[in-house]
Amino acid sequence: MKMTPEQLSGVNSDHLTEIMFGQKAFLVHLQVVDDLLELKHAAAQAGYNLNIASGFRDFARQKLIWNNKMAGDSVILDSNSQPLDSQTLTTDEKIMAILRWSALPGASRHHWGSDFDVFDRDSLPKETQLQLEPWEYLSGHQADFYLWLAGNLSKYGFFFPYQHDLGGVAPEPWHISHKQVASRCLQQLTLKHLQQRLSLSPVLGNEVVLEKLETIYNQFITNISGDE
Ligand SMILES: [Zn+2]
Repeated sequence: MKMTPEQLSGVNSDHLTEIMFGQKAFLVHLQVVDDLLELKHAAAQAGYNLNIASGFRDFARQKLIWNNKMAGDSVILDSNSQPLDSQTLTTDEKIMAILRWSALPGASRHHWGSDFDVFDRDSLPKETQLQLEPWEYLSGHQADFYLWLAGNLSKYGFFFPYQHDLGGVAPEPWHISHKQVASRCLQQLTLKHLQQRLSLSPVLGNEVVLEKLETIYNQFITNISGDE
């Protein structure tokens, strides 16, 4: 499975195929479709209505998320999901804080079509919006579903890349990843590819991002859980 640098960084999506999942259409990596549908089926048999809150995201979409946070147009959360006062932060501090919860454009696992933020739609209380905050999965309405998922996802080839706090991306109990496909994507996404992508398609704070790129790469991109 050879991916191009453009596919790995969300600029090109011709490795993906559109499938109906729940009530919506999603772009999914060709080699992930079957396992994803089997996981959904197994969840249904256990009484859970597994849906995707967020699947494939392209570079432009990730750049919008990133730039909104850098510009102060959307809120930057600290490790405890509490809002930070972005005006008191240096560019450097902003970048490191954003990376706890949002990937650097070009390096999001959501670019690959192998990673999904999932939830049990039937456990979501009426008129409640999913926040994708850890309490929902650890002690809130998604807790039963999360326990089931944790006990079963590996049977279908998935794992939680952000299970433990390794000082990089904060724990995300909703984010599942197709192990075989995603590990090959990660292997192929080199520091050099990323440098090239960001030089061609700069994001807010690009100069500082490029200066710190090796640190970012080691702390937030390759530093994941799940190889235990
Ligand atoms: Zn995610």
